[in-house]
Parts: sequence; structure tokens; C-alpha cells
Amino acid sequence: MTSKYKQQRWSLDALFPGHETPEFKNAMKELEGEIAEFEKRRDELDVEIDESDFREIVAELEDITTQSNRLYGYAGLWFTEDTQNQDAQALQARIEQFLVELQNKTLFFSIWWKKLDQHTAERLMAGAGDLKYWLEEMRHFTPHTLSEPEEKVINIKNVTGFSALITLYDSITNRYTFKVEVDGKEQDLTRGELMVYARHHDPKLRAAIYQELYRVYGDDGPILGQIYQTIVRDWSNENIDLRNYQSPISVRNLGNDVPDQAVDALLAVCEKNAPVFQRFFELKARWLKIDQLRRYDIYAPVAQSDKTYDFQAAVDMVLDAFQNFDPRVAELAEGIIADGHVDSEIRKGKRGGAFCWSVDKDLSPWVLLNYQGTADSVATMAHELGHGIHALLAQDHSVFTYHSSLPLAENASTFGEMLLIDRLLSQESDPAVRRDILFKQVDDAYATIMRQSFFALFEREAHKMVDEGAIINDLSEMYLKNISRQFGDAVSISDEFRWEWVSIPHFYHTPFYVYAYAFGQLLVLSLYKRYKQEGDSFRPGYIKILEAGGSKAPAAILSEAGIDISSQVFWQGGFDVIDGMVKELEDLPIE
Ligand SMILES: [Zn+2]
Repeated sequence: MTSKYKQQRWSLDALFPGHETPEFKNAMKELEGEIAEFEKRRDELDVEIDESDFREIVAELEDITTQSNRLYGYAGLWFTEDTQNQDAQALQARIEQFLVELQNKTLFFSIWWKKLDQHTAERLMAGAGDLKYWLEEMRHFTPHTLSEPEEKVINIKNVTGFSALITLYDSITNRYTFKVEVDGKEQDLTRGELMVYARHHDPKLRAAIYQELYRVYGDDGPILGQIYQTIVRDWSNENIDLRNYQSPISVRNLGNDVPDQAVDALLAVCEKNAPVFQRFFELKARWLKIDQLRRYDIYAPVAQSDKTYDFQAAVDMVLDAFQNFDPRVAELAEGIIADGHVDSEIRKGKRGGAFCWSVDKDLSPWVLLNYQGTADSVATMAHELGHGIHALLAQDHSVFTYHSSLPLAENASTFGEMLLIDRLLSQESDPAVRRDILFKQVDDAYATIMRQSFFALFEREAHKMVDEGAIINDLSEMYLKNISRQFGDAVSISDEFRWEWVSIPHFYHTPFYVYAYAFGQLLVLSLYKRYKQEGDSFRPGYIKILEAGGSKAPAAILSEAGIDISSQVFWQGGFDVIDGMVKELEDLPIE
């Protein structure tokens, strides 16, 4: 294989040679010109508009969006390279301001489109080709939209109602500080700082931070609980009574464009498979040499091997894993690296973590890594390059439809990660390395699939109970039952966890958002299971799923590949993969 790639900074030259160059300044000027032209077409938007004029207007909007993305992408990427660079900070702020002002000038299009009568909308969509789904999706909420004066009243009252409650929740909880003793010193910590110790090796400290966390939230439990009840009532009054949604969760399902039955099937399968993770926690207790894991210990670290892989070795492994799946996939991944779009160095001031940003569908995406040489770092490389491959495979679509929608967004990334993990495990004989890789995978699967789906189950039940007049204590009791179903006998739960639900901002900000995490991850594992069963014959269908990008509804894209997301059998496949990993861990010798 290759031996030419080093850890380095990325190049943004494919976008602009610099922000003070004529190219950058011209791009801003051109964009202003294009928007001025676009605004002139406003009067053409009426029921009489013919198909070709409509297509032209949309094409102008596509150009505007592409150009905006390039400017925004350049500023954003430059800033992540060095978050301490004041010029980059200033540029990002300036571009953001510039783009918000321009976006407001094009807003009239979507407002008009959403309100357009169904007959005319269908006439225009019929000839819209690839843009059909994008246009359709914008109108999804039309059947649940009220008259203009009603919508206005809701908006006005929301400012001092729902939104005000959320702000109040944030104001109360964001000023919390948590006191714990670390290394003999009393510390005042934010929640973020506190939770770092959930992964600490000292069991006493792990217990102390959770006790402190829920002492603070519990002190305000009656108020936070009351805010929650009010938000839930508001959600029901508005969405069920006024907007005619079937159920509280249907509101979110429509936003994700996923059928209610698919979400029900997903949650039912997650609930049924709680024992898979319970076995994992029992195993973790054995590794930690304790009888039973406490809820405090679920993220406790197990021993770690110190094996590392140099950057080139990591690239070779990732490309090799992709190559085994499909040579084209490996080629696309290598293209991203060869284009110099991967920033893999560790530098002071550089943003932490990792991401993939597809700025322009016709260019290689940019990938940020902080490559540290661990197996985990290699998996992250496969994950982010997977995102990049997804974008490149879908590049023939419009700028509006090549990005996959939320439920499919983690598809190629997690799949790529699984390919790498399999490749690593098949060639790794050191049990310590195998153990680390598997523990990390199951840990992640727990946090995204199990924890989040039980959150969604709590929400579903809580919305029902509040509707029937439940008091805060009822919700806390139900929450404790929810987590004891989740953990079974594998994990002991102490009483302060009755306040965990008031500490989850998602429950307040965006009800039912959490299942999307479980949906995305389990979907990929289920697909991966099919790949293992069907081998090469699975590949063309899977590539088609990726090539579809966001050009159709998730259920439609998947059903073309013969997958029914409303079927429990399909979701069970994902748990079979996790079950396999837990079995492998169970077979490893315990040190
Ligand atoms: Zn990702």
C-alpha cells in the first residue's frame, strides 16, 4: 500500500487562497449581486408561474447556497484550525453576519412555497426532478399549520410561554456549581467539568460526583419538575388539540420524516434487548473486581493497552478495510487525504475532537482529526472518512439534497468504523488491544442506543402521565422504574437518580429528539449485520443508499434496498451485532 501520508495541517486552497485575496472579496461581491438578482424575481412567485421559470428561480437559489457555503466553510474551517487566532475569529463573525443578512433577503421563497396551494405545488414539483423531495419536505408541516392570525398569536405567546420556560430552565441550571473533593482539595465545578470524573478510576470519586450532581438538581427538583410539566402540557395543547397530531412523539417523527410505526418498532426492540447491555455491565463488574456495578460505575475505565499505530499505518489500515468492502470506497477516501483535506496534527489552539465538513459537493470534504495513535483514533479516522465518502457518493444531487437527513447521517461513518473494527480484530492477536477496542464499541453503543432509547421511553410515558394529571413524584417514581428495567440486576441504582430526568436539557428543549441517536446507530448496525450475512450481494444496495444522500425520505431510500424500518426483525439485527461483541468480550481472559 501507500507510504506517503504524514500528519499535517489541511489546505483550504480549493476554496480560497486566503481571506484577503481578490478571490475571496470577489466571491462576496458576486454573492451580493446574485441575491439582488434573486430578489427581483419575487413578483414572479404566484400561482400562474410556469415550470421553467420556477426551475430557474430554484437554480439561482442553489447557486446562492453553494457560494454561501464556500464562504462560510472557509471561515469556519480556518477558525477550527486555530481557535485562538484573532483574525480567524473576526472573519468568522463577519461572514456569519454577512450571510444572515443575505439569507433574510431570500427567505421570501420558502415562506411563499410553504403557503402555496397543494394543486399548484404539485404541478411545480412534478417537473422538479431531484429537487422534488426537498420541495415536498418544506411543505410537510402544511397540514398542521393554522391560519395566519392563529400562527401569529402562537408565536407571540410562545415568546413569553414555551420559550420563556426554556430560558428559565437554562438560567436556573446553567448557574449551578458542584462541590467535590478531588485529590484532597475542595473544588467548585461546572457540570461539564464534574462529569469528566464519571470516567475516573477512583470509585469513591465516581459516586461523589453523581451524588453531588443530583443533590443540586434535586434541591430544585420541584421547580424544574413543574417547568417540565408545563412544557409537556403546552406541547399537548398546541400539537394534539390545535394542530391535530396523532400523538406527542408524532410531531418529532414528522420532523425526521420517519413513520410512527418505525419509531415504535425501534423502541420496542431496544426495550426487549436491555439484557444484552446488562451482560456487558456484569462483565464490567468482573473486570473491576466488584460484585455488582453501581450506576456510578457504568463509565468506569477498564485497563488499557498502550499499543499505538503511526499515522501511515492507520491510513493503510483504514484504506485496506474500505478496499475489502469496495475499491471505489477506498479510492474516494484516499482522494480526501491526497487532496490535503485532512488536518490530523495535534496543535495548541486547534479544535478538539473530530468532524467531517462537506463544504461544496464538488470538492473533497474537509476532515478534522486529532490523531493520537490509539486504536480509538484509528476508528475515528475511519468514521470521519466514512462521512466524507457519503457526501462524495451523493455529489450528483443538488446542493439541497446531497446531504443525508438526520436519521441517515451517521450511516457511512459508523459503517466505515465497523469495517475498520472488523479488520483490526481479525489481525490483532493481543487480547488487551482486542478488549480495548470492544469495550469502547459497546460503551459507545450503550450511550447512543440504550441510554437514549430509554430516555425516549420515559418521555413517551411522561407525556401520557402528565396528560392524566401525574405529580412530580409520580414522574420520579416512573423514572426509577424506567432505569431499573434498563439495568435489571446488573447495576444497582441509588435513590438520587430519581432526579436524573430533570437534568436532561433535551427533554425540555426538543421533546423526543433523543431517539434519533439510537435510530441512526442501530440502523447502521442492522445494515452491517445484513452485510455480514449477505456478503458481496449486499454491497450494490448499500452503495445506492449512500448515493441517495438526502434526495428521498429515509424510509423510501431504505425500502429500495429491501429494508423495512417498521419491522422489528430489522432492528433486532443491530442488537445481534452488539450481542456478538459482548460475547467476544465474555470470552476474553480477565486480568
Ligand atoms: Zn459522525
